[in-house]
Amino acid sequence: MLDKFERTINYLRISVTDRCNLRCVYCMPEEGIKLIDHSSVLSFEEIAEFTKVAVEMGISKVRITGGEPLVRKGIVNLIGMISKINGIVDLSMTTNGLLLEKYAQQLKDAGLQRVNISLDTIDEQKFSAITRGGNIDEVKKGIAAAKSAGLHPIKINCVIKKSIDEPDALDVKKYCEENGLEARFIYEMDIEKGEFGVVHGGSGGDCANCNRLRLTSDGFLKPCLFSDISVNIRKVDYKEALRFAVEQKPACGNSSTSHKFYNIGG
Ligand code: SAM
Ligand code: SF4
Repeated sequence: MLDKFERTINYLRISVTDRCNLRCVYCMPEEGIKLIDHSSVLSFEEIAEFTKVAVEMGISKVRITGGEPLVRKGIVNLIGMISKINGIVDLSMTTNGLLLEKYAQQLKDAGLQRVNISLDTIDEQKFSAITRGGNIDEVKKGIAAAKSAGLHPIKINCVIKKSIDEPDALDVKKYCEENGLEARFIYEMDIEKGEFGVVHGGSGGDCANCNRLRLTSDGFLKPCLFSDISVNIRKVDYKEALRFAVEQKPACGNSSTSHKFYNIGG
């Protein structure tokens, strides 16, 4: 699919839940969030059918995200359903890694190709503070499990405040080099204020080359992370929704007040 700025749109990010087993300070309020009602959350059948149509129209890369995708019950089955769709060349997941020790091999067997795991520091105390209670050992075990399952490459998403040279980022970089992982550094964003920056070591935040659409867990297809425009895929034909979202892609995003990170999945 080509948008009006001649960008090829071939990447769909799917948020499968707004629930999470962490409360990262830059993502969710401490007290938690008003959760989407279960009945509003897209079923696996809806997600798979929508993805199939999207692939027919030109999507070839799919990322599963959240909230925390591994807390969605039956997530391995969803990966199995999506991996069977002909035409997907890249099927990945973004996860906080806490449940990867349990699921990495099952995900690989179901057809997941690779994972991005979020890790902003390698200091145990700071990790616990940033995630409001997370245990870094579980993430490390998750990384090891992803490696031995053959989910490759493993990319580490590290949120930075101001610079890739800040101490925690340098530690994460070193940890990645020592462990055969690819580090990517993401500026902490405020999507309501429209504050965002280019991702170091990966893609994203680069509007001129944006190739993405995003589907929220309650069925809203968004042309841009930093825009309030969306279309409810339950209200219109899937093809029409996809055409609308591609047509509505802005040259560059502005801000989103209707959805947050944990709805859209970053
Ligand atoms: N729970 C999973 C995780 O943490 O990897 C997937 C969802 S999370 C919303 C996706 C990515 O967005 C994570 O790498 C997280 O660090 C990032 N993220 C969340 N809030 C952010 C913010 N305000 N600015 C920049 N990145 C953010
Ligand atoms: Fe949960 Fe990921 Fe948001 Fe952290 S960044 S609160 S792990 S959804």
